[in-house]
Amino acid sequence: MSGAIYDRVALIGLGLIASSMAHAIKEGGLARHIAGHAKTEATRAAALEIGFCDSVHATAAEAVKDADLVVLAVPVGAMGAVAAEIAPHLKPGATLTDVGSVKQAVVDAVSPHVPQGVHFVPGHPLAGTEHSGPRAGFAALFRNRWTLLVPLPGVPEEAIARLRRLWEAMGANVDLMDAPHHDLVLAVTSHTPHLIAYTMVGVADHLRRVTESEIIKYSAAGFRDFTRIAASDPTMWRDVFLTNRDATLDILGRFTEELFALQRAIRMGDGQQLFDYFTRTRAIRRGIIEAGQDTAAPDFGRGKGADA
Ligand code: NAP
Repeated sequence: MSGAIYDRVALIGLGLIASSMAHAIKEGGLARHIAGHAKTEATRAAALEIGFCDSVHATAAEAVKDADLVVLAVPVGAMGAVAAEIAPHLKPGATLTDVGSVKQAVVDAVSPHVPQGVHFVPGHPLAGTEHSGPRAGFAALFRNRWTLLVPLPGVPEEAIARLRRLWEAMGANVDLMDAPHHDLVLAVTSHTPHLIAYTMVGVADHLRRVTESEIIKYSAAGFRDFTRIAASDPTMWRDVFLTNRDATLDILGRFTEELFALQRAIRMGDGQQLFDYFTRTRAIRRGIIEAGQDTAAPDFGRGKGADA
């Protein structure tokens, strides 16, 4: 284990993201010990059975003991309460991070609990699937995906650099960003698209009685892609919208305006407007492929799907 970046890592929450981190850390020999804790006995037992933790603890307080990196990998709405519970048990000099999909709300909820001498470096891996729980994780999840770190004032450069090294060793590309900017970017790239997918699948569900099995039988790629995104974890996404409210509402307002403009173009038979619009959006898709963030393959080159 000469490549260990941390001695002891504690994962609080043992779902998709934490279990993927554990697999990647083990694969790379990036820590000497991985301690874990999850809320329910069933998840703790699954983690032990799969074997991605070296020790699993009944409380978060026990799990973080002597850890030099603590990762909060619970739903965004639970971050503050977990931080309050573990705070008195954190080792001086430890780094505390999180993987929450929203950053300002996590900074606001967690920061007040962080003891003097513990370095809080919020983070967010832009990688995921529509699956959740301890059995959903896999070591390659973060490979060639972005992880955004949100450095806060007064946190030593060394703590940020070390966490950055861990993410890079797990295969991620790392960028630094402030929390409000992160939340706006994610509202555009992830949060609002998820809401639109949930809505589209909901609309189809309302129509089901009219069309019966046709929706499933003839579901073409467009609708099928929406159903994959709309299968994402309800707790996680409820918390995302409750905690990234302003940015999501801003982007949703812009989305509605564009939708009305396209609706009007269809009504008026304005083919040129539709053609120009779709030409611009096609160029964005090509840019994403050229940036190496997706492939042109029909399944987007993602056997397991991917989001953030
Ligand atoms: P997940 O698979 O649903 O796992 C969540 C884990 O948190 C479970 O192990 C759950 O334990 C545990 N948990 C919930 N409340 C807890 C509490 N109060 N104390 C201790 N453990 C608790 O979720 P995930 O997809 O890994 O997401 C975790 C975090 O990563 C979220 O903040 C999410 O926003 C973020 N994220 C998710 C994705 C994605 O695509 N899924 C991508 C990037 C970031 P039990 O199983 O025992 O209930």
